[in-house]
Amino acid sequence: MIHSSAPIGILGGTFDPVHNGHLRLAMELATDLKLAQVRLIPNGRPPHREQPGATPGQRAKWIRVATANEPRLALDDRELMRDGASYMVDTLASLRADFPGHPLCLIMGRDVFAKLPSWYEWERLFEYAHIVLIERPGLSAEFAREATAELERRSTGDIDELHRRQDGLIYNYAPPPLAISASRIRKLIASGESPRYLLPATILDDIMDYKIYRSPASEAEE
Ligand code: ATP
Repeated sequence: MIHSSAPIGILGGTFDPVHNGHLRLAMELATDLKLAQVRLIPNGRPPHREQPGATPGQRAKWIRVATANEPRLALDDRELMRDGASYMVDTLASLRADFPGHPLCLIMGRDVFAKLPSWYEWERLFEYAHIVLIERPGLSAEFAREATAELERRSTGDIDELHRRQDGLIYNYAPPPLAISASRIRKLIASGESPRYLLPATILDDIMDYKIYRSPASEAEE
């Protein structure tokens, strides 16, 4: 139960696996944007990328474990409960129904925003939510032309406006940079190197115990 009418942050992603880049980002946003909560939403079958190495159950469990002691962060498994591909516009519609009094802030890296026009019914995202754009170290991306146009039209630098209006704005946010990515973590594991301290220790223990993200070569060596 959430007791204020402050915006709710939505961090969607593959979380394969969730790491300290995601978790620390969510904390910084909760504080700086005065969000009621940040909900981490793992996608079931991501429409835009190769399929995850960990199962949906594992990815959700890791988020649950990593956020258990922090009331401002929460796992939201609604996309995993749905059959077929997950479309963000449907997810936002269901969040809007569940949290009617709260503005919604859809959080995404600039790398993700760059390709936004390839998303299903992407223009309708703004009917339900603001977008909070995140600077991400090491990842620069050229924006699609339509994405640049929306950015110019909807930008605000005013956090209070994100609280006053329910949806439709774009806010640019530069968090303290953490150059951590799930792909680097998977690569380190596949090549037999350690990703320790890039993600919570309990998640790394699980990955090692269940031999997730191992390359066929490292499996063969055993
Ligand atoms: P991969 O390396 O497999 O693409 P990822 O680490 O980018 O994974 P996702 O689960 O796809 O993780 O990311 C979810 C969201 O979090 C995206 O909007 C992404 O841009 C953002 N994000 C991930 N890592 C960071 C980070 N270190 N700093 C800021 N934003 C991040």
